Amino acid sequence: MVSKVTRSPGADSSGIFRRPRLVLKLKRFEDLPTVLSKIKSYPTPIRMVGADYSQTRCVGGDGGTTVDTGGLDKILEFGETFVRAQAGVRLGTLIHALAERGLELPLTPEMGQISLGALAVTTLPQASYGVGVAQLSSCVTEMKLITPQGKQMVVTERERDLMRVLRSSFGLLGVVHEVVLRVRPLTPVKIDYQVLSLKEFSGRFASIIDAPGALRLHISPFNDRITVERRTLDESVSLSRSGIWQIRNSVMRNVLPAFGSTIGSVLAAPGLRAVMLSGVQKALRATLDRSARGVVMYAHEWMRDMPNEAWKARHTYSLWAFPQASYPKVLGEYFAFCKSYYKEHRYRCNVVTGASRLHQDRGSLFSASYSGPMFTLEPSSTGDKGWDDFLIDFNEFASRLGGTPTFNQTRALQPEHVAKSFGERVKLFEALRQRTDPLNRLRNSYFAHLLG
Ligand SMILES: Cc1cc2nc3c(=O)[nH]c(=O)nc-3n(C[C@H](O)[C@H](O)[C@H](O)COP(=O)(O)OP(=O)(O)OC[C@H]3O[C@@H](n4cnc5c(N)ncnc54)[C@H](O)[C@@H]3O)c2cc1C
Repeated sequence: MVSKVTRSPGADSSGIFRRPRLVLKLKRFEDLPTVLSKIKSYPTPIRMVGADYSQTRCVGGDGGTTVDTGGLDKILEFGETFVRAQAGVRLGTLIHALAERGLELPLTPEMGQISLGALAVTTLPQASYGVGVAQLSSCVTEMKLITPQGKQMVVTERERDLMRVLRSSFGLLGVVHEVVLRVRPLTPVKIDYQVLSLKEFSGRFASIIDAPGALRLHISPFNDRITVERRTLDESVSLSRSGIWQIRNSVMRNVLPAFGSTIGSVLAAPGLRAVMLSGVQKALRATLDRSARGVVMYAHEWMRDMPNEAWKARHTYSLWAFPQASYPKVLGEYFAFCKSYYKEHRYRCNVVTGASRLHQDRGSLFSASYSGPMFTLEPSSTGDKGWDDFLIDFNEFASRLGGTPTFNQTRALQPEHVAKSFGERVKLFEALRQRTDPLNRLRNSYFAHLLG
């Protein structure tokens, strides 16, 4: 029924403690009801794993059965406005296959190692273009899943409330095996950069958020620099393919890496850190000056290839979202927090902090921008010594300033952070979860701790 059952030695390749008793490589979704019903053969909890790239223990094996969905890897149907695929397909594979057909998703992340099953049920906020679609799960229009009782369920976006809950369900309400995603024609994106100090950013904030386009920020608290990257859909641009590729190569080789994706790997000795950080800033300035006129590319061209084994990525981060209205103030406090933390503990993040503007999106219950427009703050690092402690204090800082966390991208999360941010929504979800899975077949200790 399953291609491989491994007794787990308890090792944890991602660096996040996990320890399942069994790891199954699922070949056919039809086997899921048997796996769910045979408690002795397949110990509780049953937890799905896609690409294994989450930043938390949301997969969490806990002596149970981890089901690897990688074998469900078929793209089943391409339509003009939709694509249907199995849950184990990697987003990068799908996005490239769509691009070959002149299509794309409404949102494109920066890394392709995300499984469609995880995309459907977790919080994956992206720099957004408009109200209603700020998380990848909002592109999902249909899900097929197997419930904890082993029943097949098909849910479409017409069942809005049910869809909203499922899009935040983290494998706790059922196992997703197939999804349908909305697609649109491939559209060129014009990318402009502006390098500002905090004071300039705050002074111009109203016009920054009023102008159209998706916003991604690259933030350096110690250099008082905020690079505002604006992505504008540009249907009028008529560039030849070769023209786009030329620009693309220059951007990918020179500009994007300078924002931090590869910084950590060169920080070999602690003494080099300050030197390298300022070197990076110089590279950033130099490449930005060169690209000051703005560049044009297709969204799928900015996707980074990451290793298939998540633990090899050597890049870690945490994510909170803050109300847009107070964001300049939050950034001011973040700069002060980073500096005072460094003064006291001699630790600072060795990769540039990222951020995205999120339009309001009520498509899922735990959406990071459920209550209104938000900006994220994503401290990033290579996971060097001091990072874990930094995050504990950063979480307190973020929660105090009214931040919203996620269950898959916010590290070291505590139940009080969850209760404060999600309030009634988390109670509603937990009540529903208890009714649909009274035996806690799908629940692990991570969610037991956080959902209460
Ligand atoms: C260096 C780096 C860069 C990143 N860049 C981005 C980015 O640009 N944009 C972005 O959005 N994210 C980004 N991420 C975050 C990351 O992509 C996601 O948190 C994660 O990868 C989700 O996909 P996954 O397949 O790895 O999920 P997993 O970690 O395998 O699973 C996530 C959750 O979904 C559940 N699940 C998985 N499959 C199913 C299923 N079939 N049915 C039910 N439940 C299921 C799991 O049990 C778990 O609770 C980045 C992460 C890293 C480490």
